[in-house]
Amino acid sequence: MLARCGTPAWGVVMLFSWLRQRRRRTLAASPFPAAWDEILAAGVRQVAWLQADEGRRLRGLVAVLLAEKRFEGCAGLRITDEIRVVIAGQMALVALGLSLDFLDRLKSVLVYPGDFRAPRRTPLGGGVDMEWQQDQEGEVWTGGSMVLAWPRVAAGGRLRDGARSVVIHESAHLLDAHDGSIDGLPPLPSAHWPAGVAACREHFREVLDEGRGVPFDEYADTSPVEFFAVASECFFQDPHRLWRFDRGLYDLLAAAWRQDPRRRVPASGLAR
Ligand SMILES: [Zn+2]
Repeated sequence: MLARCGTPAWGVVMLFSWLRQRRRRTLAASPFPAAWDEILAAGVRQVAWLQADEGRRLRGLVAVLLAEKRFEGCAGLRITDEIRVVIAGQMALVALGLSLDFLDRLKSVLVYPGDFRAPRRTPLGGGVDMEWQQDQEGEVWTGGSMVLAWPRVAAGGRLRDGARSVVIHESAHLLDAHDGSIDGLPPLPSAHWPAGVAACREHFREVLDEGRGVPFDEYADTSPVEFFAVASECFFQDPHRLWRFDRGLYDLLAAAWRQDPRRRVPASGLAR
C-alpha cells in the first residue's frame, strides 16, 4: 500500500505547535519575578502606561521570550537580567497585538557594549565586489540572530533617543519577513495596504524635499523596507506626533501591528 507521506509530517507539525503553545501558556502563567518588574519599570518606560490586562500579557510574553531566545554578550559584554528583560520588554511591547509567531525565526540575540562594525559587500560588476566595514547599532540576520548595541537599546527603552528604538526597528524587519519576503510589506492586513503605504512614502519624501520637519529619521527614505521599520519605531515611541503628521500612515501601522499606542501613551509622553 502506498504510504500517505504527507500526513505523518503534518501531524508532527501540529503536535509540535500544540506542545509549544502549551509550554508558552505555562510560562506566561508563571509568577513574574519582582526584580524583572523593577527592570521593566526603569528600563521600558511604555510599560507604565499599559492597561492592567495589557501589562499582564506583556509580562507573559517577556517570560516566553526569555525562555525561548538565547542572549549572548559580544566584545566582552556580560549579559545581565537588565539587558535580557529590557530587550524582551521592547519586543513584547510590539507583539502585544500579535502572537509571538513572527519572532519564531529569531533564535539568538547578540548584544554589543556599543555600536559595532559589520562587514558589507557592494557588487561593482564583472564579478568584483567591494568589501567594507560599517558601524551599526542593530541588524537582523536571516540565520536567526538579532544584533544590538546595548546603549541604543537602553536609550530607546527609556524614550531618550527621540522616536528611535533599535529593538522595535529590528523587530519590524522580522514582522516584515514573516510572510517570506523582506519588502516593506508585513503580512498584509488589507488589500489596500501596499498602495496606502506607497502614498505615505511619497508624502514623507515631499515633506523632506520641502525641508519641513518629519517625525522620524530620514533614513526611512532609503527603501520601503526601512520606511516600514523606521515609521514603526515612531508609531510606538511617539504615536501622537506620527498621527499629527500622517493619520493615514498611523492607521496603516495600527492595522499591521494590531494595536493603537496613541490610546495609552500620554501626548507629552516622549522625553525630548
Ligand atoms: Zn533597518
